[in-house]
Amino acid sequence: MTILKTVAEVREVVRRWHSQGLSVGLVPTMGYLHEGHASLIDKSAEQNDKTVVSVFVNPMQFGPSEDLDSYPRDLNRDADIVSAHGGNVIFNPEPEEMYHSDFSSFVDMTVLTDELCGLSRPVHFRGVCTVVTKLFNIVKPDRAYFGQKDAQQLAVIKHMVSDLNMDIEIIGCPIVRESDGLAKSSRNTYLNREERKAAVVLSETIKLGETLVKNGETDCAGILAKMKANIDKEPLAEIDYVKIVDASTMQQIEKIDRPILCAMAVYIGKTRLIDNFFTE
Ligand code: AMP
Repeated sequence: MTILKTVAEVREVVRRWHSQGLSVGLVPTMGYLHEGHASLIDKSAEQNDKTVVSVFVNPMQFGPSEDLDSYPRDLNRDADIVSAHGGNVIFNPEPEEMYHSDFSSFVDMTVLTDELCGLSRPVHFRGVCTVVTKLFNIVKPDRAYFGQKDAQQLAVIKHMVSDLNMDIEIIGCPIVRESDGLAKSSRNTYLNREERKAAVVLSETIKLGETLVKNGETDCAGILAKMKANIDKEPLAEIDYVKIVDASTMQQIEKIDRPILCAMAVYIGKTRLIDNFFTE
């Protein structure tokens, strides 16, 4: 397993692989890897000859008051995880390697980014689309792996790849959870003991919503009211949003009569956590 810091080095390695007819998978991450990331690396290693994991805390996708500076980082630990799960290269560029001082081109999206996290984090998806496009152009993967944990991001990336005719297969992978149900996240490390206990309210509320939908409830307002009431019972939790949207357009709907995404962002103390469920 090799750690590469420059675009030129990655290009060189990937060029060699491609000339040998080897397939390449890409797993984009911000590092501080956990079993959720590991499941993506496993899937890539299973489906491709070679796997590149990018570890890059992308400044462009953070708003001014967000956690860019405090985001956890530990490259040695990440290297052990990538290596143990069959990754071949970590691409870990410095921000200046990705964004030269005269950087001025962006990839942006409308509609799919209007709701959910796009509404709460106005610059987020422009940063995500731009950095993922750059990573695709640098690594030229056959397949790229994203978690359903960031459901809107997965939908946005699939849409971008289709809109812009990018010749890359996007593979979505299921949410990996802690034993009590909390979705694994690098941001869980921000939680103190009391907050960690409280954070289980997200997955419990997701389960509640899922059960209501499975039992045939179709009125979104009714389902959301019950979910919000459940979160409000937890004193440390403050809702950013809980919404039900059309799974393909990400626009809010009133009645469940098509595949949906039910997504939430909830602050536990100062830490903003997300979770979701969807129906086919
Ligand atoms: P991040 O490092 O948080 O930007 O995440 C990198 C990738 O890992 C994204 O595609 C995430 O959706 C995915 N991911 C993060 N947490 C999980 C999880 N608990 N289960 C599955 N995938 C995850």
